[in-house]
Amino acid sequence: MKLYSTNNHQINVAFPEAVFNSMPQDKGLYMPDHIPTLDAEFLSHIGDYSLPEIAFKVASALLGDAIPEGDLKLLVEDAINFDAPAKRLDKNTYVLELFHGPSLAFKDFGARFMSRVMAYFLNDDEQMLDVLVATSGDTGGAVALGFLGVPNTRVTILYPVGKVSEIQELQLCTNGQNIHAIAIDGTFDDCQHLVKQAFSDVELSTKRRLTSANSINISRLIPQTFYYFYAYAQMVKQGKTEVVFSVPSGNFGNLAAGLMASKMGLPVKQFIAATNANDTVPRYLETGIYETKPSVQTYANAMDVGAPSNWVRIMDLFGQDRSVVQKLVKGYTYNDEQTLHAIESIYKRYNYVACPHTAIAWLALEEYTAAQPNEDFAGVFLSTAHPCKFPAIFPIEIAGDIEMPEQVLEMNSKVKQAVAMEADFETFKAYLLNL
Ligand SMILES: *Cc1c(COP(=O)(O)O)cnc(C)c1O
Repeated sequence: MKLYSTNNHQINVAFPEAVFNSMPQDKGLYMPDHIPTLDAEFLSHIGDYSLPEIAFKVASALLGDAIPEGDLKLLVEDAINFDAPAKRLDKNTYVLELFHGPSLAFKDFGARFMSRVMAYFLNDDEQMLDVLVATSGDTGGAVALGFLGVPNTRVTILYPVGKVSEIQELQLCTNGQNIHAIAIDGTFDDCQHLVKQAFSDVELSTKRRLTSANSINISRLIPQTFYYFYAYAQMVKQGKTEVVFSVPSGNFGNLAAGLMASKMGLPVKQFIAATNANDTVPRYLETGIYETKPSVQTYANAMDVGAPSNWVRIMDLFGQDRSVVQKLVKGYTYNDEQTLHAIESIYKRYNYVACPHTAIAWLALEEYTAAQPNEDFAGVFLSTAHPCKFPAIFPIEIAGDIEMPEQVLEMNSKVKQAVAMEADFETFKAYLLNL
């Protein structure tokens, strides 16, 4: 597998290099130079395969000879060890639950795969990999739990103390082993600033092998294609072949992966990009003008992104042709009031509790479906997180109906361990050098 930069198609790097660099020098994003098409035989029998089988098939097509098949099969089975069921809510409406992994969010797909790919390419005699993450809540948990127990790696998470939810804090601070949490007396921006300073510090980068394992890493995108194929497989099993996916979007990695799957031959009738008030992409699809904005805070806070980093990947996939992207992707945007109302409607109609991000995807699917009264298709909206991660948002009667998953019950009995620290770089540096 070779990859180029979206800023320079002449660049040509091997998969391990793209994984450890995360981002090309020219600040573009890595993309595979060839998107393979899956064989028709496989696609016509896709309903017969399990999630790990599909994941292996898709990964080996994409990665080519970057990882030998036997090793890749084990890696995929280890990374994708939880289900992604498409639950039927009514005749043609399905919710694809992507939150059955350890951090209760779909980011587990990316984080678990990435951590195992990194560990795979680290030789035993190599220096330990130090992963630094600043988190405002969701990403830190997925990365921490993704790397938990992965040999030759160590994770340091910085989070703003008092500014993450209880479950998020438990996910960061109860792991032990190779995961260290630092509670910064400051904001998320302070945390991010400390991590950036660490990367530009000469002494640290000679004494430690640092990586950011951030969300634009190509090894986080690849595993997100798996569940689109698997969702389609579940629809085929129920005799449905016309499928629409509604994707709650922030940085647009999720949607980029879905579009990559469609380029690989997955027959998708329509993609829907559902956003909160951060509507850069729906506005672009409507007007042709791509104008980023500072992010605004919403209930669906994991989607509070004004300048979505993966959008360049999507435009690149389709040769910068807006008319092609416009046909494949319909954009919808909703405010907090509509989001809250959607949570209530979903609960009343299906007796189902959706997190705010998921509720936005449902709203967009509803609006799209209402505009195609004579068409018969399965509408699948992606559920990106378990509702228990956002307890403050739900009205009491709905909150009381949220089932606590096993992962949370287990964490509750553990002791939180975090190092308290001022937002001061010299202190942070000394900490890293002492690890
Ligand atoms: C990260 C996240 C999103 C946004 O996904 P993107 O790939 O950045 O578009 C949506 N919902 C939840 C719960 C998330 O954590």
